[in-house]
Amino acid sequence: MGVAARTPHGDRAHELDAEDPLGSFREHFLPAPGVLAYFDGNSLGRPLRATRDRLAGLVDTWSSRLIRGWDESWMALPETVGDRIGALTLGAAPGQVVVADSTTVVLYKLLRAALAARPGRNEIVIDDDNFPTDRFVVQAVAAELGLTVRWLRVDRHAGVEVDQVEEAVGDRTAVVLLSHISYRSSHLADAEAITAVAHDAGALVLWDVCHSVGSVPLDLDAWGVDLAVGCTYKYLGGGPGSPAFAYVRDDLQDVLEQPIAGWMGSAAPFDMGPRYEPAAGIRRFLSGTPSIVAMHPMQDMLDVIEQAGMVEIRKKSMRLTQFVVEIADSALASAGVTLATTRDPARRGGHVTLEHPEARAATARAWERGVIPDFRGPYGIRIGPSPLSTSFAEVAEGLAVLEECLQG
Ligand SMILES: *Cc1c(COP(=O)(O)O)cnc(C)c1O
Repeated sequence: MGVAARTPHGDRAHELDAEDPLGSFREHFLPAPGVLAYFDGNSLGRPLRATRDRLAGLVDTWSSRLIRGWDESWMALPETVGDRIGALTLGAAPGQVVVADSTTVVLYKLLRAALAARPGRNEIVIDDDNFPTDRFVVQAVAAELGLTVRWLRVDRHAGVEVDQVEEAVGDRTAVVLLSHISYRSSHLADAEAITAVAHDAGALVLWDVCHSVGSVPLDLDAWGVDLAVGCTYKYLGGGPGSPAFAYVRDDLQDVLEQPIAGWMGSAAPFDMGPRYEPAAGIRRFLSGTPSIVAMHPMQDMLDVIEQAGMVEIRKKSMRLTQFVVEIADSALASAGVTLATTRDPARRGGHVTLEHPEARAATARAWERGVIPDFRGPYGIRIGPSPLSTSFAEVAEGLAVLEECLQG
């Protein structure tokens, strides 16, 4: 037994672990020597044991099949892996998700495509605390096309609310681009209601689901979402720099034109024809050759998500964040920590943000002791336990160490 047994929350942690139906899933992950508590599951998920074999298998296929591997399996991966992400985590019927590029590049492509589909409308709605890359892409595209950015001012301890969007949208709004879960506060936006409000104004909606996919169940088809983009290296365990995915609702696919016309998204890449003719369906959202190597680890995580089920994953995630909040409200509060995430589990995603004047220094000290949260300026410490790889004991131990680190 580690530090947890000696902490005030150790007993509670052991109880919670004992009754955790997903507890055994921790065995699927590779150990991290020297790491007492990993709280960055929302930034870079931990690798699965199965991934070692899968990557070795890829090298075998590559060495034996060589270029034939493209026809035999790799060419289809952006769509087959996309369909699995869609079915298991997004509530998306097949043929609407493709894996490629980075989130930033997919944001650019989908935003440009959506804007072109709303001619005569000149505003993009986004909140001022959205993830930097989302804001930067919007600003750059607005400058490129001479459009106006309509900023929603949000509370940094909360996030975008439906009535704010209702006030901001109108007949000038072309696209509303928002994050489903705020990377900073963990605020969970009401995607269904906001989508409906944007549609009532005649706008298209582009959801960034980087912090939700694999953590909070999504129901994009049922919510009537137009477009979405997400990361695979957070809760989908794709590994550093693994590609993003794009969701494009099926009835929009043949209407939208994305701006990076490339051979891989063309109707017949190997005809080497004189002109770009987009492929039918979701494949037209590809541009260049997708990263097949980096599409391997996420397949193992999808297997594990399939076994565990998103509903159970969300339940455990809520119990984990609830436990973090309990400790934040007791032991950590005495150390001067305040909560920068809602106490309502239904309104937050998979992480909890704490604030403390010494957040930066304390995070650095915690890393030295094998406790790994992340620092988000000016005073934030994000605690992102991953439902499949984090135990309650790990939370208790990690936060006990963090408490000491906050005291210098
Ligand atoms: C992690 C994250 C990104 C990252 O984009 P990349 O292009 O993969 O670097 C974008 N948006 C949100 C909301 C994120 O959480």
